Amino acid sequence: MRTIRFFSPLALLALVLASSALGSSGTASAVPSSGASAPADPVLARILELGEKDNRVQEHLRILCKTIGPRLTGTAGYDRAANWAVERFQSFGLEARLETWGEFPMRFERGYSTGGMVEPSEVDYAFITSAWTPGTGGPKRGPALLEPTSEEALEAMKPRLAGAWIVNTEPAPPAKLRREVREACVAAKAHGIVRPGGRSERLMMGGNHQVDEEKARDPVQIQLLRSQYDGLRARLDKGEAVVLEFDVRNVLVPGPVPCTNVVADLVGSERPDEFVIVGGHLDSWDAAEGAQDNGTGCSTTIEAARLIAAAGGRPRRTIRFVLFGGEEQGLFGSRGYVEAHASELPKTSLALIHDGGGSVLSGLDTTYAMLEDFRKVFAPLVQDERFPFAIGESDGLMNSGDSDHAPFLKAGVPGYFWNQSGLGYDRVHHTHFDVFETVDPAQQERSAVVVAIGAYGFAQLDHLLDRTDAEEVEPRRMGVSLEGTRISRVSGRGKAKEAGWQDGDVILTIDGTEAKDREQITQLVRSGGAKKAFRLQRGEEVVESTIDWGDENSEKERGERALRREAWLREHAAGPAR
Ligand SMILES: [Zn+2]
Repeated sequence: MRTIRFFSPLALLALVLASSALGSSGTASAVPSSGASAPADPVLARILELGEKDNRVQEHLRILCKTIGPRLTGTAGYDRAANWAVERFQSFGLEARLETWGEFPMRFERGYSTGGMVEPSEVDYAFITSAWTPGTGGPKRGPALLEPTSEEALEAMKPRLAGAWIVNTEPAPPAKLRREVREACVAAKAHGIVRPGGRSERLMMGGNHQVDEEKARDPVQIQLLRSQYDGLRARLDKGEAVVLEFDVRNVLVPGPVPCTNVVADLVGSERPDEFVIVGGHLDSWDAAEGAQDNGTGCSTTIEAARLIAAAGGRPRRTIRFVLFGGEEQGLFGSRGYVEAHASELPKTSLALIHDGGGSVLSGLDTTYAMLEDFRKVFAPLVQDERFPFAIGESDGLMNSGDSDHAPFLKAGVPGYFWNQSGLGYDRVHHTHFDVFETVDPAQQERSAVVVAIGAYGFAQLDHLLDRTDAEEVEPRRMGVSLEGTRISRVSGRGKAKEAGWQDGDVILTIDGTEAKDREQITQLVRSGGAKKAFRLQRGEEVVESTIDWGDENSEKERGERALRREAWLREHAAGPAR
């Protein structure tokens, strides 16, 4: 996304005022460690103060992770969490309820599991099974057989499959053969299949909720820690006779199972039929506690509601706190919300979704027509050195499609995924590492305040946000895969291919600016003019190359937007203050 900072005269004045307050008095703030003056609105000042002295975001997260535990959609864990969240919102004085968006065919309950190697030596295994996969029906012991890698080998193995554990090979055999092995396992009543976990000893979680009674008879799939799989493989490769035993007590019960979102309203005092939405997804995968994905987003949402209510906030328009279900299976809860609330969407100012884990919410990028409102709403944070918060400008609102903001964007509602470093999140999400202890309380506490300030601020504006030019503009692409500044691959079509770039080229500069990493290169390419001069290192030589995106439709749109932006800014600078 393009990040351009410009200041209107009003914003400049605000900055000057803020810095003079800072210069004249070290005690201007209501909060001791803050370098900024307290916001004029007493509710905002109180939110900041409570956020500092009595922040309960980690209390909510602890209950979600430790008392309730994993919250897979359509399970008792999810329902417990949803009912708890409704009560919690109600205890702050909000109107809260469950809203059903659909149903899943079967109810899944993950059971107690143990297993390991029994012969030639005893080794306990750390493993998981995918969600919506069946149990073993008691402890099942049998020989470990290495997955056959040819049709002939499969035929030869068939008589030995009954009561065996099949250990997947790597690299995987052709998909067709793997499917045949699976079918043979079902036919012969093999105990199940054992496969390796992810790199860095991660057990990766997933599963297909579209299970029926036939699929529920599929062989059990055991995912082992990578190192334990390697140990097992080493024995099998040497021809050792290995016996495994697993007892997996997963249960699948025929449904249908109703699936819900939690919806809680702090009803607006002046415009109750206008909405500001903040939220995250309540459902998680169930390999661990769903702490960073997405207990963090739920707990900041809940704490934001508490902070605003406790600060005496009576917003002008309704602030709606939504905890979505079914996000991990395909954004089902947010899609269902958008469908069910279609008539409210024109009066839904925006949706702010926190789903990037426990690192502090550090900013938002928005379009020119909303920029001034964003600056106004987040001024208390931007001016406060405790919050590393920045507002950036973007061409349009990019729809990454990967969380609950996406259905809102698709329906024309400004939908946002907060900027975050993602540090910590990338390592743990969807794995058995995603537990409460990986979350930094200090960053979470800041994030809860960020959500509260944002929610309250947008609900207090004189107007709904201006959606002019909010739709996504296709970003400029080079058509390369980058590892740092090195091009690992030039794709078959695209600008780089046309310009004669080669695999292994290293980008040195873009329009004279030194290239640093992938993120910065992407940012440089996407900002400014449509024609860029590159300097590349190719083996011993340095190559000059120019790429021009000027012939693309998106550039025409970008150019038109730039003109509309200028006109819009002129008009709003001349007109009455908004
Ligand atoms: Zn998530």
